Amino acid sequence: MIDYESHINKSNSRIDELVQIALQIGAGIIDVVVISTSDISIEDDLANMCREPICAFYGLSANCPPYVSSPTEFQNMLRIYKYALAIKIDVPIGWLNSDDRLVVMRLLHEIVADIERAAIELGYTNSKSFAAGSCKEIFCNKHLRCRLLTDNGVCRHPKYARPAIEAYGVNVHDLNRTAGWSSDQNSREATIDKASIGAIYGLVLIG
Ligand code: SF4
Repeated sequence: MIDYESHINKSNSRIDELVQIALQIGAGIIDVVVISTSDISIEDDLANMCREPICAFYGLSANCPPYVSSPTEFQNMLRIYKYALAIKIDVPIGWLNSDDRLVVMRLLHEIVADIERAAIELGYTNSKSFAAGSCKEIFCNKHLRCRLLTDNGVCRHPKYARPAIEAYGVNVHDLNRTAGWSSDQNSREATIDKASIGAIYGLVLIG
């Protein structure tokens, strides 16, 4: 049985240190904010967007639906955790609409996975990370099948491939607001063409 209280109680002593490590791992390309997991919005309708209209990678990876937890199960899992790191990489919209997005998404997966490892080393041994995009497209596009979905198969990229944040119905617009990044964008309006900049998001649950 999961000891919710002990998970929650250990979730605050070294978080500032973890943020500094995360910023080093992100090497200037990420924004990191500590948020309460109770502020993470989960919506079934957003998770359903993986299958209606169907995503090209639906069912092709162990890190995508229908092989990952449902939004309800994810919401229940969030109860184990008190804090999370919200992580954002700003990306030109033109990149998001081209194959260039795969380079940035791979980087995001690598960054959140490294932060997850750093959190575990700090004693948050139940930390888990999630990142935008299907690992089938990002890491295994040249392979016909996800190896983890084959009999007794193991992931080809266990060090970096992480579950798709979209799969759980995480509302990234709310995440943006919770992390204070919406106001960030407003303050940059004078110098940046807002319409030309998008973002991709990751989460590291600290526990
Ligand atoms: S083998 Fe690993 S990286 Fe490749 S699609 Fe499956 S889960 Fe993703």
